[in-house]
Amino acid sequence: MVKSLEILEVSRLILSKYSLCDRCLGRQFHLLNEKTDNEEIGHSIKFCLYLKAISLLNEGKRKVAVNILRTLAKSGFKQSKVTLESLGVKNFYEEKCYVCNNLIFPNLDTFFRLMESQISDVEFNTFQVTSFIPKEIIRKDDSIKIEFGISTGENIKTEFNRLLSNLIEEKTKKKHVMISPDVTLLFDSIKKSVAVYSRPVYVYGKYRKLSSGISQTRKVGKDPLTSVEGLLASVFVPAFKAKDVKLHGAGREDVDALMLGSGRPFVLEIIEPKKRIANLSFLEDTFNSSFNGIAEIGSLRFCNRKDVVKIKMIGEKISKVYRLKVEVDKIPSKEEIAKVEKIVQNLVISQRTPTRVLWRRTDKVRKKIIKWIKISAINEKEIEVVLEAQGGTYVKEFIDGDNGRTKPSLAELLNTPLKWKSLEVLEIKGE
Ligand SMILES: [Zn+2]
Repeated sequence: MVKSLEILEVSRLILSKYSLCDRCLGRQFHLLNEKTDNEEIGHSIKFCLYLKAISLLNEGKRKVAVNILRTLAKSGFKQSKVTLESLGVKNFYEEKCYVCNNLIFPNLDTFFRLMESQISDVEFNTFQVTSFIPKEIIRKDDSIKIEFGISTGENIKTEFNRLLSNLIEEKTKKKHVMISPDVTLLFDSIKKSVAVYSRPVYVYGKYRKLSSGISQTRKVGKDPLTSVEGLLASVFVPAFKAKDVKLHGAGREDVDALMLGSGRPFVLEIIEPKKRIANLSFLEDTFNSSFNGIAEIGSLRFCNRKDVVKIKMIGEKISKVYRLKVEVDKIPSKEEIAKVEKIVQNLVISQRTPTRVLWRRTDKVRKKIIKWIKISAINEKEIEVVLEAQGGTYVKEFIDGDNGRTKPSLAELLNTPLKWKSLEVLEIKGE
C-alpha cells in the first residue's frame, strides 16, 4: 500500500520514468477514492506536483523545480509548459502516454454513438459490457503497479468497461447487470467497433405431428418445412426478428412416426433475437392455421435456459404409448397373443444401437422397459400393436428384432417374422 505522503513522490518517480496521461496515472490510485474519476485523480496529483515545483522555484531551487516541470510537461500537463516557457527553458517535450498511447479513452462518446446506431432496432432492458484491449497495453499498465509496489490500482479493462457501462446506463436508462444480460456489447478499443450479442429467448411448448415424413429437427439438404423445427422457424424467426431457432425436444420420434395425444414437450431456443417479447398465443394460432393437418403446437410459455436441460432429462424419464400397424406372415392365435401380452409386462429388453442409426450413434447396449402391449388382428396379413415403452426405446427394432440386435423382440416372442408398416405416438406419459 502506498503511504499517504508517498503518493506524490511515487507519482513523480513514475512520471519521470514513464509519461502517463491523467487517466493512466490516476488509475494507479483508484481504490483510494472510487467515486472520483481516474482522470481527475491523475490531474490533481499532477497539479500538486506543479504546486510543489512552484514553491521550490520560490525557494530558489530552480534545478529541482525545472526537473519536475519537465516531467510534468512530458506527460502533457499544460501549465508546466507555460511556466517552463516563461522561465526561458527550451528543451522540453511531450510524449504520448506510455500505457494507453492516448488511443483508448478519448473516444468513449464515439463508442457510445457507434453502439447506439448498431443497437437501434434491438429490444433490451439489461446489458453487459465486455471489451478487447490489446495485451500489450494491459501488460504495461500491470507492470507499473508491480514496479512501484502499487496496490491501490484499478485494472485498465475494468475501468474501460466501467466507464462505458456508466455512460450507457446514463444515456439509455437501461440497466447494467453481470448475470444474464439481454445483450452483451463487445467493444474493440483499437478497431473502434462494437459487436452486439443478444441472449437467446426460450419458449416452452408441446407439439403434435399429424402427418408422416416430418422430422423433428432440420436435416441438411432437405426442405426445412419438412421438419417441426423448420416449421417453428418460419413463424418464430420473423416474430422475434431472430437469426435462427433451435428445437430441444423431450426425446424424439422417427420421421415417419406421428406424434399424437397431448404432444411432445419441447423448448425452442430463439437465437439472437432483436425482439424479446411476442404474443405467444397469437404465434400458436398462426402456426396451427398455417400448418393445419401437418403439425400443431400448444401450451406455449416463456422459460429459461435451465429448461433445456430439464427437457432433455424428461426425454429419458417419460414413457410413450405407440400404435403400430405390423405385417405378419401368419396371424397369431388368441392363445399366442394372450401369452405374449402376459410376458410383456414391464419386460426388460436389451437393444444394441440399431443398424439404421449406427452411422451416427455409438454402438452400445441399452436396457429399456416395455410396460405393456396389446395385439389385435386387423386382417389376414396385418396386426395392430399398441404398447407403452420407456423413453429412448427403439420401438421399430423391438418389433422386428433388427437381426438379433434387440432381444427379446416381438417377432421372437410371436415366433414369426414381423415388418412394421406405420407408427404413431399416441401419448407421452410422466412429464
Ligand atoms: Zn494513458
